[in-house]
Amino acid sequence: MNPITLSPGAAFAIDRLKSRGYECYTVGGCVRDSLLGALPHDWDLTTSATPPEIKTAFADCRVIETGIQHGTVTVLYQKEPLEITTFRKDGAYADNRHPTAVTFSKTVEDDLSRRDFTVNAMAYHPEKGLIDLFGGREDLKNKLIRCVGDPETRFNEDGLRILRAVRFASALGFALEEATARAVRSCAFLLDGIAKERIREEFSKLLLGKTPAAILRDYPEVFARFLPEILPVPQRTLTFLKIAPLDLPLRLALLFGSAEDAKTALLRLRYDNETQKKTVDLIGLQAGEVDLSTVGLRRLLREYPAETVERLLALLECRGMDTHAAKEALQAILARGDCVSLQALAVSGNDLISLGVPAGKQVGAVLEALLDRVIDGGLPNEKAALLEAAKTLKK
Ligand code: ATP
Ligand code: MG
Repeated sequence: MNPITLSPGAAFAIDRLKSRGYECYTVGGCVRDSLLGALPHDWDLTTSATPPEIKTAFADCRVIETGIQHGTVTVLYQKEPLEITTFRKDGAYADNRHPTAVTFSKTVEDDLSRRDFTVNAMAYHPEKGLIDLFGGREDLKNKLIRCVGDPETRFNEDGLRILRAVRFASALGFALEEATARAVRSCAFLLDGIAKERIREEFSKLLLGKTPAAILRDYPEVFARFLPEILPVPQRTLTFLKIAPLDLPLRLALLFGSAEDAKTALLRLRYDNETQKKTVDLIGLQAGEVDLSTVGLRRLLREYPAETVERLLALLECRGMDTHAAKEALQAILARGDCVSLQALAVSGNDLISLGVPAGKQVGAVLEALLDRVIDGGLPNEKAALLEAAKTLKK
């Protein structure tokens, strides 16, 4: 396993709290990722100090009360955000979603016991070293996701953990430990009671992980609860997914058989409008005949942003098409700045009116016709040539 090098902010926070007599550790994802040799994207800290005590200890820093009722305070140290949370012990769970009471605790052991998986339940302190009560390090070595405690009990406390189990397996390229895997299957129905936004967040991370194809193949019971449209996932989709770039709309588009299914499902999971549109556009585009010639690409660029066209080529490549020439053609179009919109056309509506085209609908129609011909390569995007052509078009 790799050594853990604290970020400047994490080192500062641990030091500051120590000088005031509190315990403090880095915990969760940052410990896991460091041990795996990956750079953590943020550093979470857990401490014996209560939120008001944390605020006092960092009175000279910017402090944001992110989730003070859950014991979380965000401290900004030279622009690095540090989530500092008081040691917690979860009370009883009333509804397999929210613990009825979150109580603060005096021990890091309590805090680690409430965490979901062994690999997420390790704490680290630069002097005390790694605190690993549940064999997280061993599971990291063996690439296993294992619940802390009895899996069925933990899933009944919070159903989202079922999806989190497969999310971490996909993200890290791990397998589920046997008892955890069994409980994921037998408890999958508990996902019905979980907020769709929380499901969406975990599902997106799963899809953008290392091994989403293996997870979709092995745990259909989970996806049946919130994405029945994608089941059964065809073998070829799994193959495409394995080589797909890390792009959410593209990976989503691969999953659905039709734009209609995608619309229904993405709306249900409350994906933002932009992701919905990008995904549905992509499905529509790849379903039809795609003309990848320079003219065909320019026609696409007239309707869709360059990003969508690039994504379409990437999708077709996943599906086994040779898109080398099309990619070069697209880059050339963008580099030359070929005209693909009315705004870029070398004549304006006013130019046409001066030429005698009656103001109103006809101006638009002539402009569109000119743009057609520029895109098709029949006319250069030059004022004189366009005005000349407009004279014949207006008749
Ligand atoms: P990522 O890199 O995806 O952010 P992470 O481990 O930081 O990974 P988060 O979802 O940010 O994951 O959660 C932070 C930590 O909080 C986890 O590592 C885990 O210890 C704990 N945790 C989060 N959600 C739950 C949950 N539903 N049940 C128990 N513990 C949880
Ligand atoms: Mg995190």
